[in-house]
Amino acid sequence: MTFQFSPYIFLNLSAGIVSLIIGYLIWQRRPGPGVNAFVGLCIFIAIQAFGSTLELAAATLFLKILAINIIYIGVVGVAPFWLAFVLGYTNRAHWLTQRNIAFLFIHPILVTFLVWTNQWHGLFWSSRGIDTVDGLVVNVFTQGSLWWFHTAYAYILLLVSTILLIRALLKSPDLYRGQVSLLLAGALVPTVANMLFISGLNPLPSYVDATPTAFLVSGMLMGWALYRFRLMDIIPVARDAIVDGLADAVIVIDGNNRIVDINPKAIAIFSLQKKSVIGERMRDTFAQHTDVLENFADTDEAEAEITLAPTAQNEERIYTMRISPLRNQRGEITARIINLSDITTLKRINQELKLAREKAEEATQLKSQFLATMSHELRTPLNAIIGYSELMLTGMVGDLSDKHYQYQERVTSNSHHLLNLINDILDISKIEAGRMELINQPFIIKDWLDEVTAQNAVFAEEKSLMFNIEFGDDLPAQIMGDEARLRQVVTNLLSNACKFTHEGHVTLTVRRNDTSTWRIEVQDTGIGIPPHKQETIFEEFQQADNSSTREYGGTGLGLAIVRQFVLMMGGHIRVSSEVGKGSTFTVILPLIEVEQPETIIT
Ligand code: ADP
Repeated sequence: MTFQFSPYIFLNLSAGIVSLIIGYLIWQRRPGPGVNAFVGLCIFIAIQAFGSTLELAAATLFLKILAINIIYIGVVGVAPFWLAFVLGYTNRAHWLTQRNIAFLFIHPILVTFLVWTNQWHGLFWSSRGIDTVDGLVVNVFTQGSLWWFHTAYAYILLLVSTILLIRALLKSPDLYRGQVSLLLAGALVPTVANMLFISGLNPLPSYVDATPTAFLVSGMLMGWALYRFRLMDIIPVARDAIVDGLADAVIVIDGNNRIVDINPKAIAIFSLQKKSVIGERMRDTFAQHTDVLENFADTDEAEAEITLAPTAQNEERIYTMRISPLRNQRGEITARIINLSDITTLKRINQELKLAREKAEEATQLKSQFLATMSHELRTPLNAIIGYSELMLTGMVGDLSDKHYQYQERVTSNSHHLLNLINDILDISKIEAGRMELINQPFIIKDWLDEVTAQNAVFAEEKSLMFNIEFGDDLPAQIMGDEARLRQVVTNLLSNACKFTHEGHVTLTVRRNDTSTWRIEVQDTGIGIPPHKQETIFEEFQQADNSSTREYGGTGLGLAIVRQFVLMMGGHIRVSSEVGKGSTFTVILPLIEVEQPETIIT
């Protein structure tokens, strides 16, 4: 008789099969770190269980020895794989260096070798035989010195793993406690069973090793622990440090809208009790916070602003609430994370900044209004001064001595300068206060140009400059615009051109630019403007050269007003200039033609 029958065969056989199934399921879902080691563990448990099956069924010494040799392949693999899994699970995967892994596997390889070669040295079993108990052939093996050494070593590894797991259990947040406890129980069951078997206190018949069956129980416990609780695919220790330390509130909810994790910040801002909310439904826990509930109901991803009313512990605070899905490796949503960042301070600062800006804007407006009124009030007496001064210069009110005449001339010219300045300030203040309005009406462009020429030719004449006018025939006879302000723009440019040119010419060109725009160009052969100043000269009180006021007079307001007017007219202005050669100011304006009334033929 080679084989025999015992009902315990089925126990061991099913232990092996179930172990393989668990390993396969876990491998397929790959729930987290250490999973490969766990799958390895399942395989070696299965080898041990299948070996035990054969051992029970074997009725000859040869088969018994073969079966036990197979069992030991499984036995020696369990401890190192279990340790590797625990290291991965407790966030210590970095301990598994190649050197450490090699070291862990020295023992299994050595033991396997010694087990299979025992007949030549007898170090593992000093004697091996068979006997018959209750009608069954059982093995009678006497353990050798190496057997004890191997067992002690395996137990040390188990002990280390168990300690690491217990530490993880103590440090884990509630969410993972269940998982860690199950793993721990899974580790203890076979250890106890094995101890009972070795010590002879086996509850089963003495020839049946309960370890494989115990592994069956523990494999199921552990598999379930990993499979069922695999909410986050992150290991508890790492999660603990990151999530609990966050300044933001974090709540994790599962597919059934139950709270599966919540960090201390969230507990605090909603004044909750941690123990009681885990596992609760969102709708019950946050019954009073309808805005929180409304925002996450049917969405995987969202962002909203919510305000938490003041409570006994907390003042009113504003949060951005973000909802983001948590996916597993296959991209399926396994949970959602609700994250609340406190933006109260940010909001407050923004509010203060807004108020400050409004105040500043109001102040500028008041300043501009004040300047506009003041300039107006100054102009009236100044005009009187100019009027009387000019009258005196004509000699109509009596003869003046040469000295009187000379001084009177200075009074007049300085008053004119002052009037120009006041006019400029009035204009810029009105523009800034938003009180400058353009009066758009049709005007005959040729007439306008003649007027501008007459007004400005005198500047060129005074300095013996050539003054050229170029007029493009492609312009319509009449166009729409604010004639007076346009004149002011061109006068400003022409007076600058004459002011900054000592010899050569000043040319004014007026022509069509393209179908929808026209251009005014003022070109001179003057001192030019250095490139870095070409942008700033359009700003208020900016001059290309700070000594300009002394040498040429002026305030630095002219071009600022010109640019404002041009912008108000829907156009733009640019300058091109070369120091020592001259400058060209180009104004481009929208061309608004005036529709000619149709001639009706009767
Ligand atoms: P102001 O002429 O009163 O100083 P503007 O705003 O009209 O003020 O001009 C600003 C500055 O731009 C002038 O001071 C001068 O330095 C420079 N600038 C303007 N037009 C010319 C020009 N045609 N040639 C050279 N420099 C010019």
